[in-house]
Amino acid sequence: MSTFPSDIEIAQNAMMSHIKDIAKKINISEDDLEFYGKYKAKLPLHLQQENPKGKLILVSAMSPTKYGEGKTTMSIGLTDGLNYIGKKAIAVLREPSLGPVFGLKGGAAGGGYVQVLPMEDINLHFTGDFSAIEKANNLLSAVIDNNLQNTKYSLNLDPKSIAWKRVMDMNDRSLRQIIIGVGAKANGTMREDGFNITPASEVMAILCLAKDLEDLKFRLGNIFVGKTLDGKAIFARDLNVVGAMATLLKDAIKPNLVQTIDGNPAILHGGPFASIAQGTNTAIATKMGLSLSDYVVTEAGFGADLGAEKFLHIKCEQSGLKPDAVVLVATIRAIKHHAGLAAEDFKTENVSAIEKGFCNLEKHIENMQQFGLNPVVCINAFPDDTQAEYDKLKELCATKGVTAIVSTAFAQGGKGSAEVAQKVVEEIEKGTANYQPLYQPSDSIEHKINVVAKTIYGANSVEFSPKSKAQLKMINDLGFGHFSICMAKTPASFSDNEKLIGRPSNFDITVREFEIASGAGFIVPLLGEVMRMPGLPAVPNAERIDIDNNGVITGLS
Ligand code: ADP
Ligand code: MG
Repeated sequence: MSTFPSDIEIAQNAMMSHIKDIAKKINISEDDLEFYGKYKAKLPLHLQQENPKGKLILVSAMSPTKYGEGKTTMSIGLTDGLNYIGKKAIAVLREPSLGPVFGLKGGAAGGGYVQVLPMEDINLHFTGDFSAIEKANNLLSAVIDNNLQNTKYSLNLDPKSIAWKRVMDMNDRSLRQIIIGVGAKANGTMREDGFNITPASEVMAILCLAKDLEDLKFRLGNIFVGKTLDGKAIFARDLNVVGAMATLLKDAIKPNLVQTIDGNPAILHGGPFASIAQGTNTAIATKMGLSLSDYVVTEAGFGADLGAEKFLHIKCEQSGLKPDAVVLVATIRAIKHHAGLAAEDFKTENVSAIEKGFCNLEKHIENMQQFGLNPVVCINAFPDDTQAEYDKLKELCATKGVTAIVSTAFAQGGKGSAEVAQKVVEEIEKGTANYQPLYQPSDSIEHKINVVAKTIYGANSVEFSPKSKAQLKMINDLGFGHFSICMAKTPASFSDNEKLIGRPSNFDITVREFEIASGAGFIVPLLGEVMRMPGLPAVPNAERIDIDNNGVITGLS
């Protein structure tokens, strides 16, 4: 049996065009390109129109296994599939974080024959956006601690109230909770601090929602830092650091143009995680894609209970965007996982497990329908799947009024997604998408959480811990009650308990505590233990990655 080449082998053997030739396909002149080598370019903000004409296709998924079910891969596949059937389409996606690259999951540049290139650069430092975000975040941290030190200009900040953390783009559990300022007085005020991973930084969330540099500055200024010893709220603007933070982000705010293996344009920009932030690329990049192309395919992270819900309630609400179609990615392995099968049994045909595990996908389908969006299900084909399993899954989707189509794009490139592309175009041309939010921003925070928990997750009720109740009062006192909510929850289950697979019922969820992201314009209810700084697995991907004397990289996936 011949083995299928690895993602990096496929990427390294692919022919790349000069990025100026990719830009030409969407009528961007060379003058507008800021080159980062031959294959990457930054795009100027003026390419973004206020009311672009393109159609927006949102790709989300059923509740994934820990490996991911292929949203990025299928998003790139659908973009190539649309181009394959003669449409002008562009993928607009997030940039990968180094945490998963060196941890368990691997990179996020697609897979098989549907990848964005240059794969190595995209998965590593790319154009430096994450570093700029990290620096802007940590500049604020440094200025906060400097203010604590400096009695002359002191804002009288209470060190115990400081909500702002440092960030780094690495899975490093030992930095979750740290003591800073140890030693002599000149070393700063000793206090407890911690690091989050860069995709969990509010600066990332802000960059991904900002309209332009002015809006970016306004939002950075609104970052809640903490309180003074006499209880007054302090924001980043009070520390006079907003101009410098925005200056550090001057290039990061510009979207990055790259290409797919099939030679179609893709824009990658921003990268908030969906478990703890809004989980989707910048609003600027999405609007720019819609201004440059007839179709934009974009991804919302993890399952649709997190990524799609936040895409709709946060990104659409703040940017005025509305999806014209939704695609839910499903895999036979994830359906079997939700039927309770162990990973070693995924490879054996089991039609009754498809019937049993469908309940998870079914709830995601119903959720999209509640938003007024009838999804297309894209079954991401894996080598051990069988036709009988596909037939059963298609039959089950049909009972919900939904078409399910198998995509073989991973193995075949864009033509493997041609049928999905055709179906999505048909749905868009029917014009039946009628997105309606499930809550209004003016509703109370408790109401908004209850709506998401009960309608989307299927919970019976929402409990608020004593700590969260006290914080809720503070949030309302600060005048933040009208913000959207950005639920921080495990992606593995509809509930806040990752062990409850399938379609759990008769469960309650608990809001442990809140975080305020007043610059991003949302409040984060933390449900269960959600990692803002992940750890590495026992044998991290980092151990497999190498570079030879010719600069050839191996082991990236
Ligand atoms: P998501 O965006 O949903 O997290 P990705 O598209 O990043 O998922 O895919 C997760 C991993 O699974 C990647 O390493 C990718 O190469 C691999 N993968 C995706 N689709 C397939 C497939 N059809 N066959 C084999 N591996 C796949
Ligand atoms: Mg992805």
